[in-house]
Amino acid sequence: MGTYLVSAEASFSAAHTLAGVDRCDRMHGHDWRIRLTVEVPEDKVGATGMAVDFRTVEALAAEAVADFDHRLLNELEAFKGVSPTAERVALEVSRRVRDRLEAALPEARLYEVEVWETPTYRVVYRP
Ligand SMILES: [Zn+2]
Repeated sequence: MGTYLVSAEASFSAAHTLAGVDRCDRMHGHDWRIRLTVEVPEDKVGATGMAVDFRTVEALAAEAVADFDHRLLNELEAFKGVSPTAERVALEVSRRVRDRLEAALPEARLYEVEVWETPTYRVVYRP
């Protein structure tokens, strides 16, 4: 049996500083983009013919990064004491989505979180 991977994206603008990393230790900003992908078994597709509604995945993605927008990520509780790298942003998004996924989409499981720090730099986290 196959599985469907269903994705939606969200974006935010935020600054960070990465201690001990050449040039990145200066405060700078990015227009970040994330893509949330959930996995749904083929046999869970219901009468609508959809694995999940894109809008639900999109809302989960948007909610997961809502408090990152127009912030210095280093100041957020989620990144207290650590550098808010793309890897840690992906992990935090993954935690937030997993907490909400079962209620929002019980038939789906979190497959991966992609985070673009620039249009050409991407991290993928698979829980
Ligand atoms: Zn950066």
